[in-house]
Amino acid sequence: MNYEFLVIGQGITGSIVALQLKKSLKKFKLIDGGNPNTSSKVATGIVHPISLKRCNLSWRGKEFYEFSDAFYKEINDESSIDLYKSYKLLRIFASFEEQNNWIGKTNNKIYKNILSLCNKKVDNLQNMFGIGVVELCSRLFVNEFLGFVSSSLLKSKILKKDLFKAENLKLKNNRFHYKGDVYSKVIMCDGVNALKNPMFNYLPIIPNKGELLKVSSNILPPQIINCGIFSLPETKNIFTVGSTYSNDDQKNNVTIGAKEYLMKKLNKIIEIDSINITDQKFGFRPTSLDRKPLVGEHPIIKNLYTVNGMGSKAILMAPLLVKELLNYIYLKKPLNPMVNINRYSKKINYENIDYANSLEFSI
Ligand SMILES: Cc1cc2nc3c(=O)[nH]c(=O)nc-3n(C[C@H](O)[C@H](O)[C@H](O)COP(=O)(O)OP(=O)(O)OC[C@H]3O[C@@H](n4cnc5c(N)ncnc54)[C@H](O)[C@@H]3O)c2cc1C
Repeated sequence: MNYEFLVIGQGITGSIVALQLKKSLKKFKLIDGGNPNTSSKVATGIVHPISLKRCNLSWRGKEFYEFSDAFYKEINDESSIDLYKSYKLLRIFASFEEQNNWIGKTNNKIYKNILSLCNKKVDNLQNMFGIGVVELCSRLFVNEFLGFVSSSLLKSKILKKDLFKAENLKLKNNRFHYKGDVYSKVIMCDGVNALKNPMFNYLPIIPNKGELLKVSSNILPPQIINCGIFSLPETKNIFTVGSTYSNDDQKNNVTIGAKEYLMKKLNKIIEIDSINITDQKFGFRPTSLDRKPLVGEHPIIKNLYTVNGMGSKAILMAPLLVKELLNYIYLKKPLNPMVNINRYSKKINYENIDYANSLEFSI
């Protein structure tokens, strides 16, 4: 069978690629290996345009937020489930300096409708320096979103549960052949697993381990709160508390260190004696050396693309970055140089060149 695209990976990124290809009526197939512990499967789904630590708009923050907000609202309409909801995020200030900085921003017209101050009392929270509010904040219910995408694609036989093996991909007359099917283009959305395949493993992808806790509590507030770590309401009296960030720990397990760190941070703003931990999870965020996404076309293998490296912001950035990749493919619109993988072309190594040379075959 002939297809226009083969997409590898159905995390947040691959799902967004699939939704945009489907909307533009492209013929494609999506393959996912079903790894139970991916970054997307543990992601809490918070989306906002602010870098909380610095109290600044994050890089292209407003532009990404406006695009993704409209994108997910459209998915809500299509799915007729609330996969995406708006929330208010409460930032518990850690110092007078932070409070002053926030107040300054609320008087700046750029931050109008984005940042404000919380004037109401929030029960049980210690907040001697006050509380700021991020007004422009939403949550994507990631597992439900992934489930919605996979069930609609499985129904139409677009999604196949299988582990993609790069060595089985072949190229003949500018067409990719994989397991009996023929494709014009391939898009890799394989997250940190990209480090294991010879197509894009020259890119400086850094797996950043994140752990979070599921807790039960009758004192945590019903809003999303952030004090360096966050607490996120799930169902009645159940909350997610996260996350840690580690580039050093690459082990596939949860750690006591992460649990202690999260509870210690939480203890700064709330009495933790009555909080019970019921579960702990981990995942590896695909981050990059310069902390910018990795989007674009392979430097040697034409029509082979990747969208990766979104770190802790795939939900915010992926909808617009995927759109920009498709504009690059169809309209030859140049990619933003900050995300274009051509900034790392010099890193390509002999293994990648050998792989590119081994793709061509004669039938
Ligand atoms: C604890 C934690 C909390 C987070 N919270 C947030 C948050 O609140 N907001 C936010 O925006 N981001 C958050 N993130 C980051 C977010 O999870 C990542 O940015 C995002 O998941 C990256 O998605 P991805 O699709 O690029 O990669 P992945 O999630 O890694 O998905 C890759 C997919 O490819 C598949 N795959 C890989 N190799 C193959 C192969 N060879 N064959 C077939 N399939 C393959 C895998 O099975 C997987 O499904 C969080 C991350 C962590 C760890």
